[in-house]
Amino acid sequence: MVPKQYRQLRKVLVDWYQHNQRNLPWRQTRDPYKIWISEVMLQQTQVNTVIPYYQRFLAGFPDIHDLAESGLQNVLKMWEGLGYYSRARNLHKTANIVVNDHAGVIPDSLTEIKKLPGVGDYIAAAVLSIAYNIPQPVVDGNVKRVFSRLFCIDAPVNDSKSHTVFKEKSHELMDPTMPAAYNQALMELGALVCKPQNPHCPDCPLQSHCLAYKDDKIKEYPRRIKTKPIPKYAIAVGVVMKKGKVLITRRKDEGLLGGLWEFPGGRISPSESPETTCLRILKTKVNLTVGAGTFVTRIKHAYTHFKITVDVFTCRYKAGRVKLNGPVDFRWIHLDEIEAYPLHKANHKFIPALRKIMKSSA
Ligand code: SF4
Repeated sequence: MVPKQYRQLRKVLVDWYQHNQRNLPWRQTRDPYKIWISEVMLQQTQVNTVIPYYQRFLAGFPDIHDLAESGLQNVLKMWEGLGYYSRARNLHKTANIVVNDHAGVIPDSLTEIKKLPGVGDYIAAAVLSIAYNIPQPVVDGNVKRVFSRLFCIDAPVNDSKSHTVFKEKSHELMDPTMPAAYNQALMELGALVCKPQNPHCPDCPLQSHCLAYKDDKIKEYPRRIKTKPIPKYAIAVGVVMKKGKVLITRRKDEGLLGGLWEFPGGRISPSESPETTCLRILKTKVNLTVGAGTFVTRIKHAYTHFKITVDVFTCRYKAGRVKLNGPVDFRWIHLDEIEAYPLHKANHKFIPALRKIMKSSA
Protein backbone atom coordinates (compact mmCIF):
# COMPACT_ATOMS: atom_id res chain seq x y z
CA MET A 1 0.00 0.00 0.00
CA VAL A 2 1.13 3.53 -0.72
CA PRO A 3 0.65 6.48 1.67
CA LYS A 4 -2.48 7.64 -0.19
CA GLN A 5 -4.14 4.26 0.40
CA TYR A 6 -3.16 4.41 4.07
CA ARG A 7 -4.88 7.80 4.33
CA GLN A 8 -8.03 6.40 2.71
CA LEU A 9 -7.97 3.37 4.96
CA ARG A 10 -7.70 5.52 8.11
CA LYS A 11 -10.47 7.78 6.95
CA VAL A 12 -13.00 5.02 6.24
CA LEU A 13 -12.06 3.31 9.47
CA VAL A 14 -12.54 6.43 11.60
CA ASP A 15 -15.79 7.31 9.76
CA TRP A 16 -17.08 3.81 10.45
CA TYR A 17 -16.13 4.15 14.12
CA GLN A 18 -17.95 7.47 14.50
CA HIS A 19 -21.19 5.76 13.42
CA ASN A 20 -20.78 2.26 14.86
CA GLN A 21 -18.89 2.49 18.14
CA ARG A 22 -20.47 0.96 21.22
CA ASN A 23 -21.60 3.30 23.93
CA LEU A 24 -19.15 2.27 26.68
CA PRO A 25 -18.67 4.12 29.98
CA TRP A 26 -14.98 4.92 29.40
CA ARG A 27 -15.81 6.48 26.06
CA GLN A 28 -17.62 9.34 27.81
CA THR A 29 -14.36 10.73 29.18
CA ARG A 30 -10.87 11.87 28.24
CA ASP A 31 -9.70 11.78 31.85
CA PRO A 32 -6.32 9.96 31.73
CA TYR A 33 -6.99 8.34 35.13
CA LYS A 34 -10.28 6.82 33.98
CA ILE A 35 -8.86 5.77 30.61
CA TRP A 36 -5.94 4.11 32.39
CA ILE A 37 -8.25 2.17 34.75
CA SER A 38 -10.43 0.99 31.87
CA GLU A 39 -7.49 -0.13 29.73
CA VAL A 40 -5.87 -2.06 32.57
CA MET A 41 -9.18 -3.83 33.24
CA LEU A 42 -9.83 -4.55 29.58
CA GLN A 43 -6.64 -6.51 28.94
CA GLN A 44 -7.63 -10.14 28.26
CA THR A 45 -11.06 -9.46 29.75
CA GLN A 46 -14.47 -9.16 28.06
CA VAL A 47 -16.07 -5.71 27.87
CA ASN A 48 -19.27 -6.93 29.57
CA THR A 49 -17.28 -8.28 32.50
CA VAL A 50 -15.34 -5.04 32.85
CA ILE A 51 -18.27 -2.57 32.85
CA PRO A 52 -19.57 -3.23 36.42
CA TYR A 53 -16.01 -3.43 37.79
CA TYR A 54 -15.09 -0.14 36.13
CA GLN A 55 -18.15 1.60 37.52
CA ARG A 56 -17.67 0.21 41.00
CA PHE A 57 -13.95 0.99 41.03
CA LEU A 58 -14.49 4.62 40.03
CA ALA A 59 -17.31 5.00 42.54
CA GLY A 60 -14.88 3.77 45.21
CA PHE A 61 -11.83 5.67 43.93
CA PRO A 62 -13.15 8.65 41.93
CA ASP A 63 -9.69 10.08 41.28
CA ILE A 64 -6.07 9.07 41.49
CA HIS A 65 -5.64 10.61 44.95
CA ASP A 66 -8.42 8.40 46.34
CA LEU A 67 -6.73 5.34 44.87
CA ALA A 68 -3.31 6.30 46.22
CA GLU A 69 -4.67 6.96 49.72
CA SER A 70 -6.58 3.70 49.91
CA GLY A 71 -5.07 0.57 51.49
CA LEU A 72 -4.03 -2.20 49.11
CA GLN A 73 -6.55 -4.58 50.70
CA ASN A 74 -9.41 -2.25 49.71
CA VAL A 75 -8.12 -2.10 46.17
CA LEU A 76 -7.86 -5.90 46.00
CA LYS A 77 -11.38 -6.21 47.42
CA MET A 78 -12.68 -3.89 44.68
CA TRP A 79 -10.78 -5.97 42.09
CA GLU A 80 -11.92 -9.30 43.54
CA GLY A 81 -13.09 -11.68 40.81
CA LEU A 82 -11.51 -9.79 37.92
CA GLY A 83 -8.31 -11.89 38.08
CA TYR A 84 -4.77 -10.81 37.19
CA TYR A 85 -4.30 -9.35 40.67
CA SER A 86 -0.83 -8.00 39.94
CA ARG A 87 -2.66 -5.38 37.87
CA ALA A 88 -4.53 -4.16 40.93
CA ARG A 89 -1.31 -4.06 42.93
CA ASN A 90 0.42 -2.13 40.14
CA LEU A 91 -2.48 0.33 39.85
CA HIS A 92 -2.09 1.07 43.54
CA LYS A 93 1.69 1.49 43.29
CA THR A 94 1.39 3.65 40.19
CA ALA A 95 -1.27 5.87 41.76
CA ASN A 96 1.14 6.59 44.62
CA ILE A 97 4.01 7.36 42.26
CA VAL A 98 1.83 9.65 40.12
CA VAL A 99 0.56 11.51 43.16
CA ASN A 100 3.99 11.86 44.75
CA ASP A 101 6.20 12.45 41.71
CA HIS A 102 3.87 13.84 39.03
CA ALA A 103 1.49 16.07 41.01
CA GLY A 104 -1.34 13.58 40.44
CA VAL A 105 -1.21 13.84 36.64
CA ILE A 106 -0.46 10.73 34.58
CA PRO A 107 2.59 11.59 32.43
CA ASP A 108 2.00 12.37 28.76
CA SER A 109 5.44 11.28 27.60
CA LEU A 110 6.17 7.74 26.42
CA THR A 111 9.43 7.55 28.37
CA GLU A 112 7.87 8.71 31.64
CA ILE A 113 4.64 6.72 31.44
CA LYS A 114 6.54 3.50 30.72
CA LYS A 115 8.50 3.90 33.95
CA LEU A 116 5.29 3.32 35.93
CA PRO A 117 4.65 -0.17 37.37
CA GLY A 118 2.50 -2.32 35.11
CA VAL A 119 2.61 0.14 32.21
CA GLY A 120 3.91 -1.68 29.15
CA ASP A 121 3.68 -0.84 25.45
CA TYR A 122 -0.06 -1.44 25.23
CA ILE A 123 -1.21 0.57 28.24
CA ALA A 124 1.22 3.40 27.42
CA ALA A 125 -0.04 3.66 23.84
CA ALA A 126 -3.69 3.39 24.83
CA VAL A 127 -3.49 6.11 27.51
CA LEU A 128 -1.32 8.45 25.44
CA SER A 129 -3.47 8.16 22.34
CA ILE A 130 -6.96 8.04 23.87
CA ALA A 131 -6.49 10.53 26.72
CA TYR A 132 -3.84 12.85 25.24
CA ASN A 133 -4.37 12.29 21.48
CA ILE A 134 -0.69 11.45 20.99
CA PRO A 135 0.00 9.22 17.98
CA GLN A 136 1.16 6.01 19.64
CA PRO A 137 -0.16 2.85 17.99
CA VAL A 138 -1.81 0.18 20.13
CA VAL A 139 -1.07 -3.44 19.36
CA ASP A 140 -3.47 -5.84 21.05
CA GLY A 141 -5.02 -9.13 19.96
CA ASN A 142 -7.75 -7.40 17.94
CA VAL A 143 -5.27 -5.19 16.10
CA LYS A 144 -3.00 -8.14 15.29
CA ARG A 145 -5.90 -10.13 13.87
CA VAL A 146 -7.14 -7.25 11.71
CA PHE A 147 -3.63 -6.53 10.37
CA SER A 148 -2.94 -10.20 9.83
CA ARG A 149 -5.95 -10.42 7.51
CA LEU A 150 -5.67 -6.96 5.95
CA PHE A 151 -2.07 -7.52 4.85
CA CYS A 152 -1.88 -11.34 4.82
CA ILE A 153 0.86 -11.25 7.45
CA ASP A 154 2.32 -14.73 7.94
CA ALA A 155 3.85 -14.04 11.37
CA PRO A 156 1.80 -16.03 13.94
CA VAL A 157 -0.27 -13.71 16.13
CA ASN A 158 0.30 -15.80 19.27
CA ASP A 159 4.09 -15.93 18.95
CA SER A 160 5.91 -13.28 21.00
CA LYS A 161 8.64 -13.23 18.31
CA SER A 162 6.08 -11.79 15.87
CA HIS A 163 5.24 -8.81 18.03
CA THR A 164 7.71 -6.48 16.31
CA VAL A 165 6.22 -7.32 12.89
CA PHE A 166 2.81 -6.08 14.03
CA LYS A 167 4.32 -3.17 15.91
CA GLU A 168 6.14 -1.94 12.81
CA LYS A 169 2.98 -2.25 10.74
CA SER A 170 1.08 -0.31 13.38
CA HIS A 171 3.62 2.52 13.30
CA GLU A 172 3.45 2.58 9.50
CA LEU A 173 -0.32 2.93 9.53
CA MET A 174 -0.72 5.21 12.56
CA ASP A 175 -2.99 8.18 12.04
CA PRO A 176 -0.99 11.29 13.03
CA THR A 177 -4.04 13.54 13.14
CA MET A 178 -6.72 11.52 14.99
CA PRO A 179 -4.84 8.92 17.05
CA ALA A 180 -7.55 8.58 19.72
CA ALA A 181 -10.31 7.78 17.23
CA TYR A 182 -8.07 5.72 14.96
CA ASN A 183 -6.73 3.39 17.69
CA GLN A 184 -10.16 2.85 19.17
CA ALA A 185 -11.63 2.30 15.69
CA LEU A 186 -9.10 -0.41 14.92
CA MET A 187 -9.77 -2.26 18.17
CA GLU A 188 -13.53 -1.82 17.75
CA LEU A 189 -13.38 -3.22 14.23
CA GLY A 190 -11.61 -6.29 15.59
CA ALA A 191 -14.19 -6.68 18.37
CA LEU A 192 -17.32 -6.14 16.27
CA VAL A 193 -16.55 -7.01 12.66
CA CYS A 194 -13.20 -8.71 12.05
CA LYS A 195 -13.96 -11.29 14.74
CA PRO A 196 -11.78 -14.32 15.44
CA GLN A 197 -14.37 -16.73 13.98
CA ASN A 198 -16.57 -15.75 11.04
CA PRO A 199 -15.57 -12.14 10.39
CA HIS A 200 -18.45 -10.04 9.02
CA CYS A 201 -16.68 -9.08 5.79
CA PRO A 202 -19.81 -7.82 4.00
CA ASP A 203 -20.16 -5.14 6.73
CA CYS A 204 -16.47 -4.27 6.86
CA PRO A 205 -15.40 -0.73 5.94
CA LEU A 206 -11.92 -2.04 5.05
CA GLN A 207 -13.11 -4.73 2.68
CA SER A 208 -11.69 -3.04 -0.45
CA HIS A 209 -8.26 -2.81 1.25
CA CYS A 210 -8.20 -6.34 2.64
CA LEU A 211 -5.78 -8.76 0.97
CA ALA A 212 -7.18 -11.86 2.70
CA TYR A 213 -10.67 -10.95 1.48
CA LYS A 214 -9.45 -10.19 -2.02
CA ASP A 215 -7.51 -13.47 -2.28
CA ASP A 216 -10.24 -15.50 -0.57
CA LYS A 217 -7.82 -16.47 2.23
CA ILE A 218 -9.72 -15.32 5.28
CA LYS A 219 -9.73 -18.81 6.79
CA GLU A 220 -5.92 -18.89 6.57
CA TYR A 221 -5.44 -15.77 8.73
CA PRO A 222 -4.45 -15.05 11.40
CA ARG A 223 -1.69 -17.66 11.47
CA ARG A 224 -1.14 -19.26 14.88
CA ILE A 225 1.50 -21.56 16.32
CA LYS A 226 0.41 -24.63 18.26
CA THR A 227 0.58 -24.10 21.98
CA LYS A 228 1.28 -26.74 24.62
CA PRO A 229 -1.76 -28.18 26.40
CA ILE A 230 -2.57 -26.37 29.65
CA PRO A 231 -1.34 -28.33 32.72
CA LYS A 232 -3.87 -29.52 35.30
CA TYR A 233 -3.17 -29.72 39.03
CA ALA A 234 -5.03 -31.38 41.90
CA ILE A 235 -5.24 -29.28 45.07
CA ALA A 236 -6.47 -30.04 48.58
CA VAL A 237 -7.77 -27.24 50.81
CA GLY A 238 -8.36 -27.49 54.55
CA VAL A 239 -10.89 -25.34 56.40
CA VAL A 240 -9.71 -25.54 60.01
CA MET A 241 -12.54 -25.08 62.51
CA LYS A 242 -11.95 -23.95 66.06
CA LYS A 243 -14.64 -22.74 68.46
CA GLY A 244 -17.01 -21.77 65.66
CA LYS A 245 -14.32 -19.89 63.71
CA VAL A 246 -12.33 -20.80 60.61
CA LEU A 247 -8.74 -20.04 59.71
CA ILE A 248 -7.88 -17.93 56.66
CA THR A 249 -4.41 -16.89 55.55
CA ARG A 250 -3.08 -14.13 53.32
CA ARG A 251 -0.71 -14.83 50.45
CA LYS A 252 2.46 -12.81 50.11
CA ASP A 253 2.07 -9.61 48.12
CA GLU A 254 3.98 -10.72 45.05
CA GLY A 255 3.25 -13.53 42.60
CA LEU A 256 0.07 -15.35 41.64
CA LEU A 257 -2.98 -14.06 43.59
CA GLY A 258 -0.58 -11.98 45.67
CA GLY A 259 -2.10 -10.24 48.70
CA LEU A 260 -5.36 -12.23 48.58
CA TRP A 261 -6.85 -14.28 51.41
CA GLU A 262 -7.63 -17.98 51.18
CA PHE A 263 -8.12 -21.19 53.11
CA PRO A 264 -4.77 -22.95 53.35
CA GLY A 265 -4.16 -25.57 50.70
CA GLY A 266 -1.59 -27.06 48.37
CA ARG A 267 -0.82 -29.42 45.56
CA ILE A 268 -1.66 -33.13 46.05
CA SER A 269 1.42 -35.23 45.37
CA PRO A 270 0.94 -38.47 43.35
CA SER A 271 1.67 -40.65 46.40
CA GLU A 272 -0.91 -38.93 48.64
CA SER A 273 -4.66 -38.98 49.06
CA PRO A 274 -6.35 -35.54 49.17
CA GLU A 275 -7.06 -36.04 52.90
CA THR A 276 -3.39 -36.76 53.66
CA THR A 277 -2.33 -33.71 51.66
CA CYS A 278 -4.72 -31.62 53.65
CA LEU A 279 -3.22 -32.74 56.99
CA ARG A 280 0.33 -32.29 55.68
CA ILE A 281 -0.32 -28.81 54.29
CA LEU A 282 -1.94 -27.61 57.50
CA LYS A 283 1.02 -28.87 59.49
CA THR A 284 3.70 -27.38 57.20
CA LYS A 285 2.03 -24.10 56.21
CA VAL A 286 0.29 -23.07 59.42
CA ASN A 287 1.75 -25.46 62.02
CA LEU A 288 -1.59 -26.91 63.11
CA THR A 289 -2.51 -30.49 63.93
CA VAL A 290 -6.07 -31.27 62.92
CA GLY A 291 -8.47 -34.19 63.00
CA ALA A 292 -9.25 -36.19 59.85
CA GLY A 293 -10.98 -34.05 57.26
CA THR A 294 -14.63 -34.20 56.21
CA PHE A 295 -15.09 -33.83 52.50
CA VAL A 296 -17.07 -30.69 51.55
CA THR A 297 -16.97 -30.47 47.79
CA ARG A 298 -14.82 -30.58 44.67
CA ILE A 299 -14.60 -27.52 42.43
CA LYS A 300 -12.77 -26.79 39.21
CA HIS A 301 -11.16 -23.54 38.22
CA ALA A 302 -9.15 -22.33 35.21
CA TYR A 303 -6.36 -19.77 35.28
CA THR A 304 -4.66 -18.42 32.17
CA HIS A 305 -1.82 -20.95 32.20
CA PHE A 306 -3.20 -23.90 34.16
CA LYS A 307 -6.34 -25.53 35.53
CA ILE A 308 -7.03 -26.84 39.01
CA THR A 309 -9.36 -29.31 40.69
CA VAL A 310 -9.80 -28.49 44.36
CA ASP A 311 -10.94 -30.99 47.03
CA VAL A 312 -12.17 -29.09 50.07
CA PHE A 313 -12.24 -30.54 53.60
CA THR A 314 -13.31 -29.22 56.96
CA CYS A 315 -10.90 -30.26 59.73
CA ARG A 316 -11.34 -29.89 63.49
CA TYR A 317 -8.48 -28.10 65.23
CA LYS A 318 -6.54 -30.40 67.60
CA ALA A 319 -3.27 -28.74 68.61
CA GLY A 320 -0.65 -26.10 67.79
CA ARG A 321 -0.26 -22.33 67.53
CA VAL A 322 -0.40 -20.81 64.07
CA LYS A 323 3.10 -20.31 62.66
CA LEU A 324 3.18 -19.23 59.04
CA ASN A 325 5.38 -20.81 56.43
CA GLY A 326 4.44 -19.24 53.09
CA PRO A 327 1.43 -17.10 53.97
CA VAL A 328 2.15 -13.70 55.55
CA ASP A 329 -0.89 -13.16 57.75
CA PHE A 330 -3.82 -15.06 59.23
CA ARG A 331 -7.18 -14.54 60.94
CA TRP A 332 -9.65 -16.74 62.83
CA ILE A 333 -13.01 -15.50 61.59
CA HIS A 334 -16.67 -16.46 61.60
CA LEU A 335 -17.57 -17.63 58.11
CA ASP A 336 -20.09 -14.76 57.90
CA GLU A 337 -17.19 -12.30 58.02
CA ILE A 338 -15.52 -13.71 54.91
CA GLU A 339 -17.02 -11.04 52.63
CA ALA A 340 -14.79 -8.42 54.24
CA TYR A 341 -11.68 -10.09 52.83
CA PRO A 342 -10.47 -10.12 49.22
CA LEU A 343 -10.64 -13.78 48.34
CA HIS A 344 -9.71 -15.44 45.07
CA LYS A 345 -12.33 -16.96 42.82
CA ALA A 346 -11.45 -20.62 43.39
CA ASN A 347 -12.21 -20.11 47.11
CA HIS A 348 -15.44 -18.24 46.37
CA LYS A 349 -16.65 -21.23 44.37
CA PHE A 350 -16.79 -23.53 47.38
CA ILE A 351 -18.06 -21.05 50.00
CA PRO A 352 -21.77 -21.92 49.43
CA ALA A 353 -21.09 -25.66 49.98
CA LEU A 354 -18.99 -24.80 53.02
CA ARG A 355 -21.76 -22.66 54.52
CA LYS A 356 -24.22 -25.55 54.11
CA ILE A 357 -21.93 -28.07 55.80
CA MET A 358 -21.05 -25.73 58.64
CA LYS A 359 -24.69 -24.87 59.22
CA SER A 360 -25.69 -28.52 59.41
CA SER A 361 -22.79 -29.41 61.74
CA ALA A 362 -23.30 -26.42 64.06
S1 SF4 B 1 -12.73 -7.72 5.05
FE1 SF4 B 1 -13.11 -9.31 6.51
S2 SF4 B 1 -11.13 -10.21 6.99
FE2 SF4 B 1 -10.77 -8.26 5.97
S3 SF4 B 1 -10.51 -6.81 7.64
FE3 SF4 B 1 -12.68 -6.76 7.03
S4 SF4 B 1 -13.71 -8.24 8.38
FE4 SF4 B 1 -11.50 -8.61 8.50
